[in-house]
Order: sequence, then structure tokens, then C-alpha cells
Amino acid sequence: MRTEKSDLVIVYHRQPYEEVEENGKVVRRENKSPNGIVPTLKSFFGHVDQGAWIAWKEAENPNEPDFERVIKISDAYGDYRVSRLPLSADQVRSFYHVTSKEALWPVLHAFRERYNYDPVDWPTFREVNYAFAQAAAQEASDNATIWIHDYNLWLVPEYLRQMKPDAKIGFFHHTPFPGPDTFNILPWRQEIIGSLLKCDVVGFHIARFAQNFAAVCESLFDIEAVQHTPVELVDEVVRPALTELKTPKTIKYDGRDVQVVATPVGIDVGYIEDRVNDPETAQLEKRIREELNGKRLLLSVSRTDYTKGGAELLYAFERLLERRPELHGTLRLMLVSVAANRGMAVYDQVQQEIEGLAGRINARFAEFDWQPVHLMSTPIPFKELAAFYRQADVCWITPLADGLNLVPKEFVTTRDDVDGALVLSEFAGVSVELPQAVLCNPFSARSMDHAIDQALDMPPEERRLRMKAMREVTRRHTITDWADDLREAIANDAPPQMSEKQSEFV
Ligand code: UDP
Repeated sequence: MRTEKSDLVIVYHRQPYEEVEENGKVVRRENKSPNGIVPTLKSFFGHVDQGAWIAWKEAENPNEPDFERVIKISDAYGDYRVSRLPLSADQVRSFYHVTSKEALWPVLHAFRERYNYDPVDWPTFREVNYAFAQAAAQEASDNATIWIHDYNLWLVPEYLRQMKPDAKIGFFHHTPFPGPDTFNILPWRQEIIGSLLKCDVVGFHIARFAQNFAAVCESLFDIEAVQHTPVELVDEVVRPALTELKTPKTIKYDGRDVQVVATPVGIDVGYIEDRVNDPETAQLEKRIREELNGKRLLLSVSRTDYTKGGAELLYAFERLLERRPELHGTLRLMLVSVAANRGMAVYDQVQQEIEGLAGRINARFAEFDWQPVHLMSTPIPFKELAAFYRQADVCWITPLADGLNLVPKEFVTTRDDVDGALVLSEFAGVSVELPQAVLCNPFSARSMDHAIDQALDMPPEERRLRMKAMREVTRRHTITDWADDLREAIANDAPPQMSEKQSEFV
């Protein structure tokens, strides 16, 4: 019988490493990107002796006795156990591809027209969430802290609270969270919110999503009180569309206080600086400069997803080339749109649309020695991406909806030359932290056109001032600060005491 129980359990649907086959053997490798969710969550393990991670792994036969359920990992982040839930291909399809991606994801990002209810098999979603809760309970000590991440595990807190009444349960959303008009489209709204209200802490990137969550709770449950606290604004004058002036701190329900935290994920500044100072980066930069041969580089980086606005960006680039023929031959757009979730019709369509548009723009405008768009759909390892960030004249990030978006933070952190312009959608959570970017509304062609013109024509001194401010903000709230905010929230048994002036009951 095992006795090692963990005081910290992370529940996230993906495993904390990449499994690849080499010479017929499965080997485990660090994830390529340093800034995705996985390394962010692993950084928590630096603070405990024994941690555990719960994830799923597809299994041909989930009841196969040889399935290696628990493995031990020792890596740069510490020693921890990974408990893998064997899920059948049908369970993965139903739980992840259908319910999570076709029903929940569009609602979270407020794409009501894309919401697909009919193929959802909710009992399977419940069953998988229950299995996650059971695995977490098995690994956790009685007073453990259990951090659950992301919407596809929404029902875990409810089950876990029954299994581990004394555990501290936290839940962080890496996506946006909509208000009641959109969220309550989900027929399972009561069950989902009832589960989240069993947590000790519920976290979001920004105050808007926390406010929306409180509003949804109040629309569905008899909430006793919501206590708010003021938000510290980055800039008193420029207030991006997602700005809020106050944020909920605690939600009182059923005699319990649920703490609500709004803290955006930060980046590992030290890691990025090491990449910047790596001689390999300088070599790659030199090659990029030679290849550009004096042309300006516009860079956009994202996953292929309708929320990321890749097509809208290409339309804006096409209009730019129509509007300003003097720019022909002087700039190049590198659009990195990494194909994720291949085989899902909705993502395949987005990929095709992007490929079609990029092809059309090249066909319309290319010259013998100039190709306006370079579309890349395979991931670029981060150390190469850092060189492109450093050589970009404009980083162009215009999602239609996004929980945060780490790319702008990475871009500004690589720019120790304090140069380069950032065009940023007002509907990416990170816009609240970076109001000094050239902000735009990707639903408006006029706004997109104005923003790219402004970035291309910006005087060097203005670029420098904006970049300096964005670099400072990004350094002030790093990945460590984010993890500290969450740890502090969960360590607080009682809600933090606030001064009269700060607190307010609604
Ligand atoms: N990324 C990368 N190579 C690529 C494209 C993206 O390493 O070719 C990384 C990028 O550096 C960033 C992450 O993928 O750290 C994407 O995170 P983001 O928050 O922007 O978007 P998400 O995909 O989580 O919605």
C-alpha cells in the first residue's frame, strides 16, 4: 500500500510532458514552448516536497492491467507523480472534442452561433470529470491543496468536495468567462456553477471575467453577498474595452466564502532573457535580416482557431496592400498559425480559409522577388520564435476573443532594444495590462486598417516610449507573481481584511 500522499495536486487534462516515439520506444520530453500552461503549472512544484499531477492518456483498452497508471517524474521543476487516467478514444472524443470544444469553448468565447449542443453526451462528461476527481482524491493528503485548471474539468470541485471535505480546492480559468446572457445558454449552467461554488478559490486572468462569473452566480443562485475591491489600472486615460474598475473578492453563498482572484498569467522573464542572450539567437537573427534584405517584418503568432482572428488579419493585410501600393515589395507578413486539433471539422475549415486567403494575397500581389505572406502551420520552437520577435517591426495580435494571449508579453520581453510596435486586439485579456499597445477592434475593418497604418507610420520615439512602458508592466507581474497570487489566495482561510474605503457589499 502506498503512503506517499501529496500536499499539492494539479489537475489539468494534458500530461506535463510530450511523449514521442524514438526507435520504437516512448520517451518523455520537456514541452517545447516554455510559456504554455504546462510549464506554468509545473512551476508550482518548486514549492512542495511531493506533488502530483492528474491528466488523461488515451488507451486502446482502458481496463488493460499493464497500463502504467502512475509514473514518477524528476525534472527541472522538482519530483512529482503523474497519475494518468486511461480514457478510450470514444471518451476522449465525447469529453474533449465534442463537449469541450464544440459546446463549451464557443460559449466561453461568446461565439453563440458556433455552439453545438446536439452531439453532447453529458453523462460521459460527468463520468470523465468524476474519474479526475477520484484520481485527485487518491493522490491528495487530507488537507492538500488541489488546483484544477480549465473549463473541461468544471465538475471536478463538486465531486472532490464530497471525497475530500477538508482539502483546499482552487480552480483557474485560462479562457474568457462570459456574462449570464451568454453563459446561461449552457443547459448545464446550474450544475457547473454549483460545482465552482464548492471551491475555496476561483481564478481568472482579468477582472472582467471575474465580474462576469459573479454575475452568472447571482443569476442562478441565491448569493448572500459579493464583496468587491478596486482594480489598480495600468493607465488612467486609456481604458481598453475589457477594463473593469472593481473586481469581486469574495462570493458568500450557503454560509461559505468563495474567494475570487483576477490575476493574469505572467511569463518566465529569466528564461526569455537567456534565449535572447544565446549566441544561436543572434545567428538566427542575422539570417532573418539577410533574408528580409531591408524589408519590414510584420509578425503574427497563434494557434489556428476561429477565436484567434487569423482570417480577419489576412483581410486587413490585403486591404493594406490595396490601399498603399507604395508598400509593395517593402514588407512581409509572417503568419504563424499552428494547426491544433487536426481532424476536427471546425478547425480544418479555419485552416483552409487561412490557407486560401494567404494564397490569394500572394497570387494577387507577389512579384518575381517578393512574396507578401509567409504562412507557417507547424510550430516554431520558442528559441527560434525569440529571434523572429526581435527582428519584427510590428507584432500583430488581433484575436476576436482570448483569455489572455502570451505572445505580446513574450514579444516585448525579447525587445531589449526597446523598439518594435505592437498592434493588439482589445478583446485579448492582455490588452488590459498593455494599454500602451496600438489597440484595435478586430470586428471593425476601419479600426484594423487604422491600427496597422499607425504602427507602420509610428515615429521611433513614440515606439520607444510605448515599448518601454509595456516592458515594465510585463516585468512587474511575471509567472512567479501569478503563482504567488494563487498560493496566497488559497492560504487565506478567512477572506482578506479590507479597509472601509476599499470594501463594498452589493
Ligand atoms: N508558440 C510557440 N511556437 C509557435 C506558436 C506558438 O512556441 O510556433 C507558443 C507561444 O510562444 C506562446 C504559446 O505558444 O507561448 C501560445 O500561448 P497563447 O497564450 O498566446 O495562446 P493559447 O494557444 O494558449 O490560446
